[in-house]
Amino acid sequence: MIEYRNLRIALLGGGSVGAQVASLLIEHGEELASRAGAGLELIGVAVRNIDAERTPAIPKELLTTDAESLILGADIVIELMGGLEPARTLILSAINSGADVITANKALLATHGPELFDAAEQVGAQLYYEAAVGGAIPIIRPLRDSLAGDRVKRILGIVNGTTNFILDLMERQNESLESALATATELGYAEADPTADIEGYDAAQKVAILASLAFHTNVPLDAVHREGITRVTIEQIESARKAGYVVKLLAICERLTDAATGVEGVSARVYPALIPSTHPLAAVHGANNAVFIEAEAAGDLMFYGAGAGGKETASAVLGDLVSAARRHVIGGPGVAESTHANLPVLPIASVTTRYQITLQVVDQPGVLAAIATLFSEHTVSVETLTQSAAAGNESGSGEPDATATLVIGTHEATEAALAATVTALSINQVVRSVVSVLRVEGL
Ligand code: NAP
Repeated sequence: MIEYRNLRIALLGGGSVGAQVASLLIEHGEELASRAGAGLELIGVAVRNIDAERTPAIPKELLTTDAESLILGADIVIELMGGLEPARTLILSAINSGADVITANKALLATHGPELFDAAEQVGAQLYYEAAVGGAIPIIRPLRDSLAGDRVKRILGIVNGTTNFILDLMERQNESLESALATATELGYAEADPTADIEGYDAAQKVAILASLAFHTNVPLDAVHREGITRVTIEQIESARKAGYVVKLLAICERLTDAATGVEGVSARVYPALIPSTHPLAAVHGANNAVFIEAEAAGDLMFYGAGAGGKETASAVLGDLVSAARRHVIGGPGVAESTHANLPVLPIASVTTRYQITLQVVDQPGVLAAIATLFSEHTVSVETLTQSAAAGNESGSGEPDATATLVIGTHEATEAALAATVTALSINQVVRSVVSVLRVEGL
């Protein structure tokens, strides 16, 4: 029998993910030890309430409420408490005491990532965070290691399972947003307070992490443009379907050059967008996640799977644990987070994309020409235009109060040009209302 060096593992948090990590670590300890080349001894699990029921159960003798003391004796600390504090302070203490740290805490990384990475670099420790984006899906290691020799051009991600579940239900069962959200809550896919998911905050944290890693640049959370799904309607989804698109909440980051200033930078943004129904991301159903990467040499890659779930996320955490243990066995400093490119983060106005705009207009001769002129005056070129009569009206009836619906697809235009066009449309006399403006991605 091989005698391994023993590594002491402290676990902070014994909730959905933590309890699974503890259970799998105890159950598969020997196998993980042979993969890591070191014994992995779980020395304790810090929780708030020792008497709370846990699934799976954690041996009582491992539980403690004294997280500060627990980390002092650890070689590797796994933080699965969530939230900013005390997680941040505990991680900093763990790093300063020489431990490597594994975390799944996207909120903390998106908010205090640079501080934590700097602290780790100072002492030669390493911070692992595979589970922070996309749950079980390997995406951090592929970006950091497998694609280290390539140049990432763009990432399109479905990184929030709750909103994908809701939009998918709207798309496939014709449910309204309210009804789909109620179903998601009932089935446990949405929290009692769904704001973080449906307003895009969770996806914004994840895209800040992905953008920082992919473009070797610190992308702060407040530089991420964020729009949630609360204004997506069943009518938009139906009209998208007719035009060959599906609506997805996309987390996007890309390297781009601002057309007006020539400045090269990074854009990071979250919004509901249309993608062609033939795009691989269109086939991501239910609460699944997927990250689609466009790289210069590798071409297109897609990473797909469960974006959440206690056991699924525990898989990613334990992968980090084996990596951290191997590093301890080999010795030497951890790999620092690379921000060498230090590109500026560009505002949403610098982004160029296509749009689909739905308008209700006065149904009279000359209206189409007036709308087309307005678009060209704002340097937005129209690619497709379909017209249909609103309910109760016959298109082209010439009645003074008749209304027609126009769905206009544009060629690529800047956000700035599009915003000016929409403002002009909203005050134009022939336009009754701007029903929706959706970006088109993935073409
Ligand atoms: P959770 O079920 O709420 O568990 C949190 C655990 O931390 C609980 O055991 C809690 O103790 C403990 N805790 C919280 N504050 C504490 C404090 N001040 N002192 C001591 N213990 C404390 O959370 P989770 O769903 O496992 O998520 C953990 C982390 O993983 C979060 O950062 C989350 O964003 C991330 N994540 C989760 C998933 C997922 O599917 N759940 C997926 C990807 C990433 P008690 O049990 O005593 O209350």
